[in-house]
Amino acid sequence: MRNERIRIGIDLGGTKIEAIALGEDGRVLARRRVPTPTGDYERTLRAIVELVDGIEGELKARGSVGIGIPGMISPATGLVKNANSIVLIGHALDKDLRQALRREIRIANDANCFAISEAADGAGAGAEVVFGVIVGTGTGGGIVVRGEVLTGPNAIAGEWGHNPLPWPRAEELPGPECYCGWRGTTKTRAANPASLLKSPSSHPVARKKPKLVWSATKTAWRAGSPTSSTSLILTSSCSAVAYPT
Ligand SMILES: [Zn+2]
Repeated sequence: MRNERIRIGIDLGGTKIEAIALGEDGRVLARRRVPTPTGDYERTLRAIVELVDGIEGELKARGSVGIGIPGMISPATGLVKNANSIVLIGHALDKDLRQALRREIRIANDANCFAISEAADGAGAGAEVVFGVIVGTGTGGGIVVRGEVLTGPNAIAGEWGHNPLPWPRAEELPGPECYCGWRGTTKTRAANPASLLKSPSSHPVARKKPKLVWSATKTAWRAGSPTSSTSLILTSSCSAVAYPT
């Protein structure tokens, strides 16, 4: 067994699950990625367990496990809500994974993980307020104030993707349905950069701010950002509103 304490971080995405193991000094010791099983909660759990087992076997060490999910655990029910991977919705993911991995684990919203990471030592380092936005399969947001993630009583603070797209034009109303119940949300307008790349001129967001959306999308997409999604870090809520509009 390795003496070093390792930390395993898992990004549970809509299309892939990626795991990374860090040493005590933050060195990357291992990295694995598998496609997310579609529409199957039990297989998703198994895929996560296999990733952790695989990494621990490779490193001959047992690690702590933290998981970022595209959604959140409702403080009211203890069940996943607002997940872009809808197969997770209504499940006690933290309890199930604790049991499956035989240890205490931590689960947080993936956009909150991204925002706190950028606030700690990334693009937002040193800023008092950091607002991070992920546009990928879904649209997530996280807000960090003085080094702490704001979650709010319903654990949805910073969830910018489910706000209606500001200042819609008449032909954009009422807008596509979002799974949260609203119509014409930022998520339904701005998610999936692949569609922007294929047809930027036909996308409502791209039509409004073609240069901004186009260059941000291309840069992140071509760079193969770690989450395989377009990630923008915006350091104020003003610029956050400017992005989708
Ligand atoms: Zn929504």
